[in-house]
Amino acid sequence: MRLVLLGPPGAGKGTQAGRLVARHGIVQLSTGDMLRAAVAEGTAVGKRARAIMERGELVPDDVMVEIIAGRIDSPDAAGGFILDGFPRTVAQAEALDKLLEDRGTRLDRVIEIGVDEAMLLARIENRVRETGGERADDNADTLRRRIAVYRRQTAPVADEYRRKGLLSRIDGMGTRDEVSAAIESSLAAVTVAPEPGGAG
Ligand code: AMP
Repeated sequence: MRLVLLGPPGAGKGTQAGRLVARHGIVQLSTGDMLRAAVAEGTAVGKRARAIMERGELVPDDVMVEIIAGRIDSPDAAGGFILDGFPRTVAQAEALDKLLEDRGTRLDRVIEIGVDEAMLLARIENRVRETGGERADDNADTLRRRIAVYRRQTAPVADEYRRKGLLSRIDGMGTRDEVSAAIESSLAAVTVAPEPGGAG
């Protein structure tokens, strides 16, 4: 099964991706984790990405597409994957379509975890008030920026997938178990695409 998980920061994507991995035996491909590893290792990509990530902005599409192209070709991803944090722009989504098409496969489902943005912002404000200090303020600013970036650049990706009939929008305001149950029922009807290179 090949899935994409969309949702603003704070929606619980990481938690739900972990549960999908355990339940379906697919790998989680988190571009945020890959970038953080590149920053920690001080690679060329890491050096380029670091300041962008600190500002809560998006790393350029060509960099991201190259990273993800390498990962979906690795053997552990052959049996299926869940993309967590990619695609974040319409250009990335188009590049992903092309990558999968070239490999004779496609996405099976896109899950968008929806949360109340006003509630996310209220949580951030609260945390700033409680912790105070310059650093918490920096983080709150970054998080606010990331939510705005999601609305502006990633929400249109969900719209594209909706048009293609691939999107399941899940209410992310419930408990973790409620959200998992809703995701599982949205996947129950999915017919899985053939393996790349398989007879189909
Ligand atoms: P995440 O852990 O998915 O929230 O990602 C952390 C940060 O990494 C984001 O705020 C972006 O700066 C960067 N990032 C992760 N995935 C992407 C992507 N697909 N496109 C552009 N930037 C990304």
